[in-house]
Amino acid sequence: MFSSDFFSSLRFRLLASLFVLLGLSISISLYGLWTFERDQYLLIAQDEATRAGKTIEKALRSAMLQNNRPAIQQAVDDIHAIVKPSVISVLSYGSTVMVSSDKGLLGKHFDRNREATCVVCHTSPGMTPQRQAIFLETEAGPVLRNIIKIPNGPECYGCHAPEQKNCGILLYDVFFTDTIEILHTVLIRMILTGLASFVALIFILSFIIQRYVHHPLQQMMEGFAHVGTGDFNHWVEVEVRGEFQDMATQFNVMSRAIQRSFAEIKGKNWETTSLYTFVQQLSQAIEWRRLQRLITDLLCETFKARQVVVFLAREKQEQVIYEIAWRQADDLRYYHREYSSWKAAADLPDGVTQAWEKWRAGELTSAIFSDKDTRVVLALDSKNIALGLVCLQREPGLSFSGAEKKLLLALAEQVGIALANARLYRIAITDGLTELYTRRYCEASMQKLLEAHESTPEKGFCVLMLDLDHFKLVNDTHGHQVGDEVLIQLAGLLRTSIRQEDVACRYGGEEFIILVNGDLSKGLESAQRLRQVIEEHLFISRTAPPLHKTISIGVANFPLHGKNGEEVIGAADHALYEAKERGRNRVVCFGEE
Ligand code: GH3
Ligand code: MG
Ligand code: MG
Repeated sequence: MFSSDFFSSLRFRLLASLFVLLGLSISISLYGLWTFERDQYLLIAQDEATRAGKTIEKALRSAMLQNNRPAIQQAVDDIHAIVKPSVISVLSYGSTVMVSSDKGLLGKHFDRNREATCVVCHTSPGMTPQRQAIFLETEAGPVLRNIIKIPNGPECYGCHAPEQKNCGILLYDVFFTDTIEILHTVLIRMILTGLASFVALIFILSFIIQRYVHHPLQQMMEGFAHVGTGDFNHWVEVEVRGEFQDMATQFNVMSRAIQRSFAEIKGKNWETTSLYTFVQQLSQAIEWRRLQRLITDLLCETFKARQVVVFLAREKQEQVIYEIAWRQADDLRYYHREYSSWKAAADLPDGVTQAWEKWRAGELTSAIFSDKDTRVVLALDSKNIALGLVCLQREPGLSFSGAEKKLLLALAEQVGIALANARLYRIAITDGLTELYTRRYCEASMQKLLEAHESTPEKGFCVLMLDLDHFKLVNDTHGHQVGDEVLIQLAGLLRTSIRQEDVACRYGGEEFIILVNGDLSKGLESAQRLRQVIEEHLFISRTAPPLHKTISIGVANFPLHGKNGEEVIGAADHALYEAKERGRNRVVCFGEE
């Protein structure tokens, strides 16, 4: 019925202790009271009996002085009629019952040294009796026997010798049955009162313990349980005033402090984890374009931004190219645009234009948060090289927390470093004029393709060697500047016309190599498409009329036309020579007669 928890609970222990204490103290008090009451009652009864006995003795005196036994017997019978069932007996000097209300006792001799009732007081012969009353247990019930001496006096000398101390003894036996019954009733009432007060006290105490100890403790325990499961929002309310209320207040203060520390630790943990993941992912990308996308995606996901816009300024020859990459939370697409002038890129989200202007003037040094902290603009730089800025826009009402702000600043620094590295890498692997990959990058890429072939022999690749037809003529007719513009546009066309996995490189002055990942048919198909795109394109320049240009392409395949990179490039070069020989603006495959 009760669990072991109940028996070890404070409520049970308190109640059990009080139960024992109360039981003991009530029992002891009742016992003390009872014995005191009983003794007092008996004393009074005894006193009254003695006085009644003495009164009887006085009443009998005149009859006794007349030495008229029938008169004495009559007087005894008369008194007996009043004090019934008490027994009145008069003993002679020689201790024989002379007169008695109990006729059965007449003539009975009491030997004071033998009679059981006498030796109680006459402890030794000749000794004065210790008491004048004794209790006797008789068949009719308990009896108080009063022994009243009838003193000898000059008036008695007619019958009694003067040396006798007394003339006889009056025995007055008072029945105590009623008194004992009354005492029993008193005892029962005392026990019942004791029990009732015990039960009442236990009820009152258990109510007090329940209300003022157990219930507040329960509420405190509930608070502990909530905190234990990580729910710090639970507020402990204790109705009773005093220590428990103070304890609850202190507990609430403590749980709020823990909550704050917990949130701080959580924030720090989130900060560290996010920073670690972010930096780890950034370190995976060194390629400029890939890095831009990665930055946009990571910022959007880490900060649950509605929109992330990354603005970058990239130097190209003496020009600055503006790049804008953006993503929106509700749109999976990634957008990227390039602008050759600031004006063209000026269609920016609210509030960002100012930051952009500031950045261009070199005045954006710290993060700028909007009024409600739902938008932030951060400058991206590294080692005094201004790279651009990033703008994060959140949903209204979802402002950046303190931890997020700190993380944003730390991440902006890491993004700056990653972009600076990507910029250096871009400069190292791309050609300054055309922004196509360099010859060295082309060779490294080819090496990778050769290695891929080693592990998967069915994989091959094609080298497309391109050369502008009569390009010298452009230079000679319109000048070197126009020649450069044609080269830049041609590079743009090549970049946008090849597949993402193919690599376009500037191999020499106006010679280009495209590495096509695939078999010969794929290479030839690609070459034809490129040739056609160039043929159909109109090259525009600032100082010359629109120009039509063509290209010749030599195609070679690995492993069909060479055992290594050098041989395949040689084969492609040979095919290109063949294409020129056959009249230009054409695609020739190595070995094609
Ligand atoms: P072909 O059809 O036989 O190829 O005739 P071509 O005139 O194009 O002859 P070739 O390929 O030998 O011409 C190379 C010319 O390309 C020489 C040089 O003036 C020009 N050139 C090389 N690099 C650059 C450059 O960076 N800028 C400009 N403007 N011209 C360059
Ligand atoms: Mg050439
Ligand atoms: Mg040429």
